[in-house]
Formats: sequence, C-alpha cells, structure tokens
Amino acid sequence: MKKKLPLHTKILLGLLIGLISGLVVNTLYPANQNVQWFVSNIAYPAGQIFLRMIFMIVIPLIFTAIVLGIADFKDIHKIGRVGIKSLLFTVVITAVSVLIGITLVNLVQPGARILAEDREALIQTLNNNQNVSNIVSAAKETKGLMQIIIDIIPRNPFVDIVNAFDPNYRGGGLLAVMFFALIFGIALALSKSERTDTLTKTLEGLYDVVMKIIDFAMKLAPFGVAALIFSVSSQLGLQIISTLLLYVLVVLSALLIHLLVTYGAILKFIVKRNPIDFFKAITEVIVTAFSTSSSNATLPTSMRVTSEKLNVNKDISNFVLTVGSTANQNGTALFEGITVLFLAQFYGIDLSVSQQILVVILSIIAGIGTAGVPGGSLPMIVMVLQTVGIPAEGIGIIFGVDRLLDMSRTVVNVTGDIVLALWVDKSESAVEKVH
Ligand code: ASP
Repeated sequence: MKKKLPLHTKILLGLLIGLISGLVVNTLYPANQNVQWFVSNIAYPAGQIFLRMIFMIVIPLIFTAIVLGIADFKDIHKIGRVGIKSLLFTVVITAVSVLIGITLVNLVQPGARILAEDREALIQTLNNNQNVSNIVSAAKETKGLMQIIIDIIPRNPFVDIVNAFDPNYRGGGLLAVMFFALIFGIALALSKSERTDTLTKTLEGLYDVVMKIIDFAMKLAPFGVAALIFSVSSQLGLQIISTLLLYVLVVLSALLIHLLVTYGAILKFIVKRNPIDFFKAITEVIVTAFSTSSSNATLPTSMRVTSEKLNVNKDISNFVLTVGSTANQNGTALFEGITVLFLAQFYGIDLSVSQQILVVILSIIAGIGTAGVPGGSLPMIVMVLQTVGIPAEGIGIIFGVDRLLDMSRTVVNVTGDIVLALWVDKSESAVEKVH
C-alpha cells in the first residue's frame, strides 16, 4: 500500500520543483518568449488562484479569531495583560532586529562599494520605472504620529476592510479592522445574554466554515507554491542581483542571524523549548511564508500549526498571531533599517548618530504599520527616506531584488509571530501558576 505524503512534505516538494525548474529555465533560456508566455498565462495565474483562495477568507478569519478569542478570555484583565505583553515583546524583538541590521550595514557599507558603472546603470533604471513613481507619489504626504494612532480607530470599518490589502492605503487598514474586532469582542464578552450566546455560536460557526475553506486552499498549496516560486525564479534578474550582491547578502545575513540567534535564544532561554524541534515543527509555515511573501496569507497556516504542533493555548495563540501578522514584523523592520542606510550610502549622504537613531525608531514603527502583503514595506520605506532627507525615488534601486528579499523577510516576520505567541503563552502560564 502506498503511504500518503504529509501536506508539509508536498508543499516543500512544490517549492523545490518550482525553484529548481525556474532557475534552470532562467539559465538556459534567459528572456525567452515562450517562457514569458508560460509564466503570464499558466504559472502566474495558478499562483494567484491559490493566493486569492487564502486572501478571500483572511478578513472573516481575523474578525472571528479576535472576537472569539476575546470573548473566550472570560477574565477582562487577561485581555489587557496579553495585549500589553504582546506590544512590549514586539517592540523589544523588533528593536533587536533593527539593531542587527543597522550594525551589519554600517560594517559592510554595501552602498558605498557599488562600482561606478553599476551606479550609473541603476540610476538609469530609476528614470523609467512607473511602479516607483506610483509608490512614491502615494506615500508623499507623511502622516503625523497622532494621525497614525487616530487612524487605527475606524470611522467606518468597511472602508478599512475594503482597503486592507492595499499597501498604498493611508488609513488604518487591517489594524483598524482588528481594533473594531477587539472592541466588538470586549462588548460581546460583557453583554452575556441568551441573544448574544446565539451570536457567539454563529461566529463560532463562521470560524469553522472559514477553517474549512482554508483546508480547501491548502489542498492547492503544493501546486500554488510551485507556480508562485516558478514565476519568480524563472524571471529573476541575475544581473541585478550581482550588482547589488553585497546589499542582498547583508539583508539575508542579518535576517538569518535574527532568525537563528535572537529567536533561538528566546526559545531556549525564555520559552524553554528546543529550537531545532521548533523549526522542524513549523516547516510548513516557513515554506508558505517564503512562497506567498505575505504574513497575512500565511496566518491560517501559522494558526493551525501553532495550536496543533506546538500545543499553545489556542486563545492566546490565535489572538497574538492575528495581531502579530500585521504588527510584529521583525524581518521587515530590519530590512527597512538596512535599506534606508544603504540608500544613504549610495547617495553619499552622511547620517549623524542621532539621524541613525531616528531611522531605528522609524523602522520599528514602520514595521508595526506595514501591511502583511507582498511589497507591503515599500511605501513605509519611502516615508522613512523622506523624513531623513534621502531621495525617495531611490527605492527603485532595490526594486529588482525586492521579491527575493520580501520572501525571506516574510519568513522572519511569521516565525517571529509564533515565537511571540510562545513567549506570551509562557509568561501567562507563569502568571496563572502564581494565582
Ligand atoms: N511581505 C511582508 C509580509 O507580509 C511585508 C513586507 O516586508 O513587505 O510580512
């Protein structure tokens, strides 16, 4: 009898097949018309079908998970504690990640070491890139801190729902949807009656249906992942990667250090779990994050894996993971810090220590505000660039390598959410033991 392969092995196989065939095709037939045709008519649409199957249920998933998570807490103090701890831990790990990135980029100075002819070619590409001007013009008006906070409270949650996955949307977006769910959940918990019990039951039913749809989508995952990765790797500009090689290596090494050392240390010394077992258990999450480049699209998988394989209290993990998928983005913050300093080096702009500290703080805030979608951090980088006086159009210089870096930083973002959930869970169980 043939043994069925487990889903995570199939997804991993999909990733490898997509990656290897894409790279082979890219090397053997660079810029080939037939390959282009295949990507735009077969591989790209197949990847999009998979992605959209997940994206279409992210809003109801986030809403029901937060409302039910809160309504289940019973103890209103616990909600406050979990919320404050999540925020505090998020700021701490994000700060560590940005510092790792900033240290490396200062040591290696990738922006100052680009050859003169490559520099010319890069600046040339800036002038005719429509995507860059779109992003820059959308991010031009910078928002004040107070406005950012006010926007988290939605005037009309449906407007934020509609725009939740648009990285250029300047309102609260997914954070505002979460805020609405939070208030709704607290109110539901405080108005216990027969009628609200019915509402809770209905939401539980909705949550189960959403989970079923995720099951359907994940059946497509091995193919979807292969298609997404093939679309990227077969089109990869090896030329641009070699021009920006040092920059790419700095970002990837900093991400790896944060993933293995920072998370490894938190797991081993605070959460008291074996890091190797942890990484084995979350392979499926890592592969999904890498191929979708989206924390929000990976949320359903991370919720399932965290409660099934890591045995974390589901109330806590669903809540922390949901909020974390938008707010706790260590990989993104690290990348933002490196990129801003890299572009400063590229343009020969010397940033003082206090300006660098400003970059660290802005990167932490930008990490929290970045939408968990592919390329979500680009508008945020534009805002940081503008604040410290570096030409915002410079973002176009790294455009060609962004997808690869996006896939990698999303892995760190999502792994960070799970580490955060374990950390909060651990500290909550310590509190419960005392009581
Ligand atoms: N793609 C990232 C995520 O979803 C966000 C970004 O850095 O662009 O986590």
